[in-house]
Amino acid sequence: MSLSDPVALAQSLIRRPSVTPEDAGALAVLEEVLTALGFVCHRLPRQAPGTAAVENLYARLGTASPHLCFAGHTDVVPPGDLAGWSTDPFGGEIAGGRLFGRGAADMKGAIAAFVAAVARTLAERGAPTGSISLLITGDEEGDAVNGTRAVLPWLADRDEVPDFCVVGEPSCARALGDVIKIGRRGSLNAKLTVLGAQGHVAYPERADNPLPRLVRMLDSLVDVMLDEGTAHFQPSSLVLTSIDTGNPVTNVIPAEATARFNIRFNPLYTAEGLEGWLKKRFDSVGGAYRLDLSLSGEAFVTEPGPLTETLVAAITGVTGRQPEFNTGGGTSDARFIKDLCPVVEFGLVGQTMHKVDENVPLADLEALTAIYAALLGGTVYRDGKS
Ligand SMILES: [Zn+2]
Repeated sequence: MSLSDPVALAQSLIRRPSVTPEDAGALAVLEEVLTALGFVCHRLPRQAPGTAAVENLYARLGTASPHLCFAGHTDVVPPGDLAGWSTDPFGGEIAGGRLFGRGAADMKGAIAAFVAAVARTLAERGAPTGSISLLITGDEEGDAVNGTRAVLPWLADRDEVPDFCVVGEPSCARALGDVIKIGRRGSLNAKLTVLGAQGHVAYPERADNPLPRLVRMLDSLVDVMLDEGTAHFQPSSLVLTSIDTGNPVTNVIPAEATARFNIRFNPLYTAEGLEGWLKKRFDSVGGAYRLDLSLSGEAFVTEPGPLTETLVAAITGVTGRQPEFNTGGGTSDARFIKDLCPVVEFGLVGQTMHKVDENVPLADLEALTAIYAALLGGTVYRDGKS
């Protein structure tokens, strides 16, 4: 297999049915190729109590700065009903100028493109003046406890913290190069329980009805404008999702009542700040209540800087497109990496990810390889020529 051919490598990866948490030999394929290119490889298996063991791979070429890290995952979601597929989801077949298979878009194709970009750049320009690493996990599509989050402390302990990181998730919406993801909104789920005392509806003075207080507390939230958005984020939003008393009868005042809501917030807020803000509002209504919060992730943004400038130039040079900076969509491992270094997401077009007949145009694999090669040239080679 030619190391500079992204299609052949993507096929090899797709043919390893690495449905989370199975590795099925996918990382061994990568390890072999990266070792041949001169990378020092480390296998980092992780297993939190009560979970399935997961394989991870960290590989680095050189030790100098600047250090560009490519992060991604070889695990894939299950293919679902095989009858819906027109090819074997783990066959890596090519038809009509497209490569088909689970993981083609999300994200074995992008990993193959990055490795091919490294191979081409090394062949043309020799060793980089900086260094290049890959951080590839087998636990992104699952609970993600044994993957990137579990491996980052090892990187920090060994002084392997990158200067910047590109996550190869399928960031593009319709055409290769149209979107770079530079952050995400935070998400906070809240359950508010207002506590009272049960009683007969005819004797309200002998009970403590929690419902009027719950209504006032919620009323203090519903019309609030949290902010007006920022340059890269839409306004934060608070959405009520449920109000429950569980009271089936007409003659009893309930002892408690609950409400649930979700806050999607931009980097003007933190979960801690929102908690304080909520409690202040509820305290001003008064009475006993309980507030249970669960945080899916804090908001973050990588403000445009050298990394994004170089990436934009690479994208425009190859595709002619001017990418949009976007902060929408679901979570990715960027939410963990952002604690270490500036991180953006750029990969293939996501239209078929997690769907039957997942596929990627061969032309996109080739173009993404050229973009990643230009990114390498502009970051880890001193003359900066891409
Ligand atoms: Zn993915």
